[in-house]
Amino acid sequence: MIQVDAERLRKERAEQLEQTDFDVLVVGGGIVGAGVARDAAMRGLRTGLVEQYDLAFGTSSRSSRLLHGGLRYLAQGRIGLVYEASHEKRVLHRIASHLAEPLPFVFPTYRRSDWPLWQLRFGVKLYDLLCGGRNLGPSTWMRPSDVLRRLPEPKPAGLTGAVRYYDGLTNDARLVLDTLRSAATSGAVVCNYTRLETAVPSGSRWVCQVHDAESDRAFSVHARAVVNATGPWALSLPHSSVRLRLTKGVHLVIEHEALPVPDAVVMAQENRILFAIPWGDRVILGTTDTDYQGPLDRVPVNPDDVDYVLGVVNEAFPGAHVDRAKVVSSWAGLRPLIASGRGGPSDISRAHEIREPKPGWIDVAGGKLTTYRLIGEQVVDRLAAYLGRKTFPCPTAAAPLLEAGEVRGLSGILPPEVRPEVVEHYCRGEWAVHLDDVVIRRTSWHYYHRNSQEIARQVANWMAEIFQWDAARQAAEWARYLQATG
Ligand SMILES: Cc1cc2nc3c(=O)[nH]c(=O)nc-3n(C[C@H](O)[C@H](O)[C@H](O)COP(=O)(O)OP(=O)(O)OC[C@H]3O[C@@H](n4cnc5c(N)ncnc54)[C@H](O)[C@@H]3O)c2cc1C
Repeated sequence: MIQVDAERLRKERAEQLEQTDFDVLVVGGGIVGAGVARDAAMRGLRTGLVEQYDLAFGTSSRSSRLLHGGLRYLAQGRIGLVYEASHEKRVLHRIASHLAEPLPFVFPTYRRSDWPLWQLRFGVKLYDLLCGGRNLGPSTWMRPSDVLRRLPEPKPAGLTGAVRYYDGLTNDARLVLDTLRSAATSGAVVCNYTRLETAVPSGSRWVCQVHDAESDRAFSVHARAVVNATGPWALSLPHSSVRLRLTKGVHLVIEHEALPVPDAVVMAQENRILFAIPWGDRVILGTTDTDYQGPLDRVPVNPDDVDYVLGVVNEAFPGAHVDRAKVVSSWAGLRPLIASGRGGPSDISRAHEIREPKPGWIDVAGGKLTTYRLIGEQVVDRLAAYLGRKTFPCPTAAAPLLEAGEVRGLSGILPPEVRPEVVEHYCRGEWAVHLDDVVIRRTSWHYYHRNSQEIARQVANWMAEIFQWDAARQAAEWARYLQATG
């Protein structure tokens, strides 16, 4: 196994951060920050990005992993949002097909429900049209007998049929990492475990004080503009003008044999919908949508959340009897929604907002994984105008996310096989510093495998060899991993 001098690599990156006179410093290594950094670097701006923890630590590794226009938003009359997201879904399928797998959804309909079949048949055709008539697959509808044949014992009483339509399945954390690798290839300097503490305007520059948690060193970074892309943390940044309402979403992962759905299934509740999403030999169930006021760094999955999701699944599939024993793993994420002051959590718009409260300071919040490329384009358009720079036209909708052939097979919808060379790749080429960086975000092994602790032990041994960890560091990494997954 090739040894990696992690300290030297990080030191070099920190020196680059400290010594470069950046056009823009992006704060936040979630999908929004990654999209802004890629766009800015590809348009020739000197770009730095700092992330306080690991890349994709926040909401961008805790989503439903869908690239979707949002059938629910269509029902809410948010046509513009659905059009935008549907268009982006197709763009992502074009530039990153390894991260945008066409996924059929079956939406069973029932008598006296809020989602009548006739309305949905019309809705899915409109949904296809909003993709420019070229959705990832054509929508159809099904008779009750077809639904009963296709799905594993759905609730039969009152069943009137179903519609079947297409969205895309992605791997959220991987989308962030591949976007950042693409940004770095274009010259962006990306540093994780580096937090922005303060930012002070000085002449035509921002002097940003950052703290590197690994070396416990604070230093200044100079940039003409700063982009606050810190998702749920956006309010805590100096100069922030973001108005947020945070809602929590919980997902459970179960074995596919516990609910052998061939397609994703929509489970309608009053005013909202949940999904059962096939993911290799597993099914992802979710999600909840409740207002949240707790800690941002550690979002709990409460027993109530688990009971709610299992209750919905067992109501939709009465023969399945999915209980807690069948749950392989779970995660909880926070939606950084733009506060509008009205309605329940599911009524709040998923649109994004870009603000410039001070010259050279840009806040960006809201939006979806699906629209991240477009958000990046709009932010960099504003940046270029502020900097008075004639940049290249935005290239991100046409350029493949990664150079052809590069580590293909390592980056995809499903976690790759557990192999030492894969770990090695994450340590050398993807900024992994800690055990949980690899087992949770680079690979999803923690979420996918029942024996994830055994796997983590093996990965810890490999990482110890690659990074030359001593016994004390290995013990600390193990404790850290247990804390992150406990
Ligand atoms: C349950 C759930 C399901 C979802 N499902 C979908 C879906 O299926 N499809 C879809 O399109 N969208 C989905 N979304 C929405 C989507 O996941 C989010 O809109 C998106 O991930 C937000 O990304 P972000 O970059 O704004 O925030 P984050 O991913 O949270 O990134 C912000 C980052 O900023 C860092 N940060 C904070 N403060 C600092 C600082 N001072 N210095 C440096 N770094 C800092 C944080 O550590 C964090 O990593 C879902 C959201 C949730 C919660």
